[in-house]
Amino acid sequence: MTALTAARDLFTTSFGREPEGVWSAPGRVNLIGEHTDYNEGFVLPFAIQHRTYAAVAFNGTGDIRVESTFADSQVVAHLDELDGIFPTAPGEAPGVPEWSAYVLGVAWALRALRPDAPLTGVDIAIASDVPIGAGLSSSAAIEGAVASALNDLWELGLDPVTLAQVGRKAENEAVGAPTGIMDQMSSMLGRPDAATFIDCRSLEAKSVPTGFRDAGLEVLVIDTQVTHAHSTGGYRERRESCERGAQLLGIRSLRDASVSDLPRAAEIMDDVTFRRVRHIVTENQRVLATVAALTEQGPRAIGDLLVASHASMRDDFEISVAELDTAVDAALENGAIGARMTGGGFGGAAIALVAHADLPRVSDAVEQAFADAGFTAPHIFTVSPSEGPRRDA
Ligand code: ADP
Ligand code: MG
Repeated sequence: MTALTAARDLFTTSFGREPEGVWSAPGRVNLIGEHTDYNEGFVLPFAIQHRTYAAVAFNGTGDIRVESTFADSQVVAHLDELDGIFPTAPGEAPGVPEWSAYVLGVAWALRALRPDAPLTGVDIAIASDVPIGAGLSSSAAIEGAVASALNDLWELGLDPVTLAQVGRKAENEAVGAPTGIMDQMSSMLGRPDAATFIDCRSLEAKSVPTGFRDAGLEVLVIDTQVTHAHSTGGYRERRESCERGAQLLGIRSLRDASVSDLPRAAEIMDDVTFRRVRHIVTENQRVLATVAALTEQGPRAIGDLLVASHASMRDDFEISVAELDTAVDAALENGAIGARMTGGGFGGAAIALVAHADLPRVSDAVEQAFADAGFTAPHIFTVSPSEGPRRDA
């Protein structure tokens, strides 16, 4: 059963009638630009073909009722209650089941933008084929699907970038997860066969054609299935190192440093802080170089940049793990054009850019390398740059 059908079926069995429509939004993968978002730098993610679907209809009450195939029971909240539930206090769990805070948080954030709009209650049923918690941003996908549905049904007329900000507000303030805006922007602005270049300072974004399809290239995701207990602490520490580095350089954020500042940085800060700074500064350069290479030379020219990005995350930012390094090395040794870990690190997934004909060889080699190392078998699949939110029915 497709996720679209699953959302519609869940709606019918839960609410006893047909939905008025079904809306969906994609997950995303980051092609290059890691940990640069909170340093006001550059990222280049793309929306993927895996999507989250929201089947929705008005219910004639003031309640929002939410169901998901991912959850056991229905969550109900009155629209006028949302201001009492959110924002969630820092470090606390939301006052509703966590998964439902993504949905109710979007409704809350939309109401904050349009306090005067006469918003009426809705029933919402969610289903998804985005792997949840694998670093492919099932969270942005659920936010985007719900934000698009409510934007249409409540006739708010908000543009995609505003809806991305609504999703981020839901995730930061309703769920309580301190994330940047890359995920929501890449989901909301997805285009077939294009990545989204985002300036995380100005939030300016532009579509960059990847040319993967015409060049016969595929992006392989190698989900290591590793989730590291210290990923939250590691993320916080990296953010603190970046802030310290910027402070020592006397700049607002590492976005304002360039490669020519690195010799001075090496003199005035400790080695660990310096290497964190060097990753961010060089990663921003690599994102710009990747955009230029895609535009001027085509996708086969970006392999070395992906490989350099991985080395920088492994050696300077120190956020890789043995499974990710094994995936990247095995892919590169067996014909991948480029490969790197993607996402926050300490586990999660790697991507490899591979010619269509080499897919079996690369994925077999990665599986074999994992088996030889005694690692849990990875989950391997291809993703392709896909469109943003849409109404499906
Ligand atoms: P990622 O975005 O990498 O998949 P996150 O931890 O950011 O991981 O978001 C995953 C969380 O988002 C889930 O634990 C759940 O709370 C919520 N979520 C995502 N997809 C769904 C869904 N289809 N139904 C209900 N909740 C979902
Ligand atoms: Mg997420």
